[in-house]
Amino acid sequence: MQNKEITVTSPLFPSLDDFIPMLKDIWDRKWLTNNGHYHKELEKALAEYLGVEYLSLFTNGTLPLITALQAMRITGEVITTPYSFVATTHSIWWNGLKPVFVDVDEETGNINPEKIEAAITPHTTAIMPVHVYGTPCNTKRIQEIADIYGLKIIYDAAHAFGVKINGESVLNAGDMSTLSFHATKVYNTIEGGALVCHDAATKKRIDYLKNFGFAGETTVVAPGINSKMDEIRAAYGLLNLKQVDKAIASRKVVAERYREAFKDIPGIRMLKDIEGVRHNYAYFPIFISEEYGMSRDALYEKLKEYNIYGRRYFYPLISTFSAYKGLESANPSNLPVAHKLADQVLCLPMFADLDDEGVNRVINVIVNRK
Ligand SMILES: *Cc1c(COP(=O)(O)O)cnc(C)c1O
Repeated sequence: MQNKEITVTSPLFPSLDDFIPMLKDIWDRKWLTNNGHYHKELEKALAEYLGVEYLSLFTNGTLPLITALQAMRITGEVITTPYSFVATTHSIWWNGLKPVFVDVDEETGNINPEKIEAAITPHTTAIMPVHVYGTPCNTKRIQEIADIYGLKIIYDAAHAFGVKINGESVLNAGDMSTLSFHATKVYNTIEGGALVCHDAATKKRIDYLKNFGFAGETTVVAPGINSKMDEIRAAYGLLNLKQVDKAIASRKVVAERYREAFKDIPGIRMLKDIEGVRHNYAYFPIFISEEYGMSRDALYEKLKEYNIYGRRYFYPLISTFSAYKGLESANPSNLPVAHKLADQVLCLPMFADLDDEGVNRVINVIVNRK
């Protein structure tokens, strides 16, 4: 018999028994969207859980990126990383702005702060870094550069749900941070997302922008979009929030098993836990180099033979897609480290209910190379 399929991720579901009474309540209230009861509750609960002051819910994780650029009236050029999910750069494009790619740090995969200054031009107004795999960027250094040149910082924190540095949320860095609550993420509301900012006036502006720009029944203050989260997903999100710490703890156990199994295997590099950082174990990337004796793509295919599906996040680089490859900054010679990581990376199955037997199956293929 073929072994059960193991996918790279599997969604965290709340208990159906807990969800049904909430659905009944929504039916009774006859209120489905537009800042309803559960929407308000989830905004409050998430701000508290994450340790941030102002958070606005969105219908996915891409619209907060697009809206953040709108809310801060970003113009001209935005410095960003090619080593991310395409939505990061797409949000810049959707604002009619020019993305400028900067190479990444080999250790973390995050934008290399020491390469940012050389990419700044008179048209640069913002930096959009990504906390890739949930590893915090060097936020202090990025802020120093932004302060010198008068730039705004919008963090794509789609991977960084619940990540803290010495007890402080990583979402408090920069001017704004965005989150994704897509089904595949550490915490999900099926589809969903949020935009974190640091003052009440900005939150108000964001809330107008996600509701067509309406500031009152007959007042439209900006060309906003529709990006509201509905009551059903907000209720679902409240239930998932109650179990996310347990899910992160289970992910940590998987990460520890992988680390122990691969620590002496030549040609496999893994990310380390950083002291003082509360990691969320959103992904488990390994970076395969020559000494491993099998190429990354060969291993990827080999795992498939055993019904195990890793994913090559982030290959190909965003800078190689047709919309962006013509940009000067997309030239591979400008992005050698990002290209190296994209060619080496394989994200292994990582989710809360990946059981011991599943972990063993993944480890066996990788350790035995056959
Ligand atoms: C998932 C993700 C997004 C987009 O989120 P959606 O909720 O799928 O729209 C943006 N950036 C990064 C880095 C992501 O991983």
